[in-house]
Amino acid sequence: MEDDWKRRYLDLVRESEEELKALERAQHLLHRVAARLALVAEGVYPDVDPLLADLRRALRDEDAAAVDRALHELEALLRSRDLGEPPVSAAEFAAALLDALRAHGGTEPPEALAQLAEGRLRRRELAALARALAEAATRRAAAPQAAPAPSAERLRTALLGLVARLEGCEPVAVQGQGLARRIEEAEGDGALAVLLEEAADLVGAAIDALRHARDDVARLLAGVDERLAELAEAAEGVRTLDAERREAAESLEAAVHRETAGLRAEAAAATDLEALRRSIETRLTAIERHLREHGARERAREERAEGLVRRLLARLREAEGEIRGLRERLGDTERALGVDPLTGIANRRAWEARLGEEVERWRRYRTPLALAVADVDRFKAINDGFGHRAGDKVLRTLAQYLRRRLRRSDFVARYGGEEFAILLPQTDLEAARRLAEALREAVAALGFHYRERPVPVTVSIGVTELREGDDAESAFERADRALYEAKRAGRNRVVAA
Ligand code: GH3
Ligand code: MG
Ligand code: MG
Repeated sequence: MEDDWKRRYLDLVRESEEELKALERAQHLLHRVAARLALVAEGVYPDVDPLLADLRRALRDEDAAAVDRALHELEALLRSRDLGEPPVSAAEFAAALLDALRAHGGTEPPEALAQLAEGRLRRRELAALARALAEAATRRAAAPQAAPAPSAERLRTALLGLVARLEGCEPVAVQGQGLARRIEEAEGDGALAVLLEEAADLVGAAIDALRHARDDVARLLAGVDERLAELAEAAEGVRTLDAERREAAESLEAAVHRETAGLRAEAAAATDLEALRRSIETRLTAIERHLREHGARERAREERAEGLVRRLLARLREAEGEIRGLRERLGDTERALGVDPLTGIANRRAWEARLGEEVERWRRYRTPLALAVADVDRFKAINDGFGHRAGDKVLRTLAQYLRRRLRRSDFVARYGGEEFAILLPQTDLEAARRLAEALREAVAALGFHYRERPVPVTVSIGVTELREGDDAESAFERADRALYEAKRAGRNRVVAA
């Protein structure tokens, strides 16, 4: 009899431990998915970012209280407000339009446009603006003496530049090509002014399309946010079950203790053997009942825990699917905007467009134009030695550094894997070489670290300037050959050609 309940008690303890382990596994998974969510959502909404960073830090440190805090704050923030629009594409397009209009008008852009460039771009305002500009252009065309007419060629170039930006936006790409053809064939300012209006309409349509894509992303994000909340709730459930289990074990222990203490007291005071036997019998029956009831409650709890874990796992799988979708859509939107998803700077497509424009400008005005191609030295060794993620981090850091360090009128793009291309308007070869040299030195001194280990990063740079007879391709090839020379000469150096 005694052996029997000891064995059963031990079984119960063992079962409880297994249950606890299952719950811990669920909690671990929960943390992992939260970490992933934090990573994916980063960069979409600027004021959510610091909280996501907190969350990731807390998860990394396995600080449960801090995880809780971050999740709660995040949830509160996400619930408390309308997420609005991520400020990416509108600003990009406004900037593109601004460039084009600047090139066209030659004067400072109207205040309205400058505001638009800050991220709020409305289709109706844009169309009105385009109309006003078109009218101005028509007036100037009609009264050439009053003001010097903008050359039709400048307007044509600006318009072509504007329309070229639409190439990456699938829904208007075909219309954009048609419009580009008509712009090339149009004769005179008046005809071009009409096409300007059409271009503005098309930009509006592109913005609408991109806004849709972005709304999709926002919706997906809201879905992920819901999952986050559910996961947080489920975590709460896990904690509650755990506390219940501990309490139940404590009360069982207390009940058994009560019975055995009573028994001991009665045995000490016993005078009547028969009465003692009956009392023992009653107490043992009571202990047995406590154990039976406890066992039943534990089994019920275990079933609830199992259900919880199953539901959690199902949610995790759903969340993973959503994350995949989210990542793909973000990538699509960014690529359409000419942005490289890894680093957030311009991609190769945007580079080709900008290079074409700048070379065109150079051909007309002959102001100096330099270009540089920078390639990370022995990048393969960084990937091999520190892992692909470290390599990615190096690329992101470099891209951000270059963007910050260069002027606004300069242009930097991720041309390919670990290769960056830089355009330097109004810069001659010697100035470009000096700048490249300064960049090279600064990169070597940046002091990269990955997981507290120093990562040696240097770049080689080829530099050239546009020369008589050049086109975009020949200039780029010369810079690329100079880069090759820099590599051959030992890397971590600049060669100007
Ligand atoms: P070199 O000094 O001659 O330029 O040597 P390298 O190792 O930098 O050049 P190589 O062209 O042999 O290797 C480039 C490596 O860059 C190989 C490729 O796996 C890696 N790479 C390309 N794109 C990415 C990326 O997006 N992320 C990471 N982590 N690595 C990338
Ligand atoms: Mg390399
Ligand atoms: Mg390379």
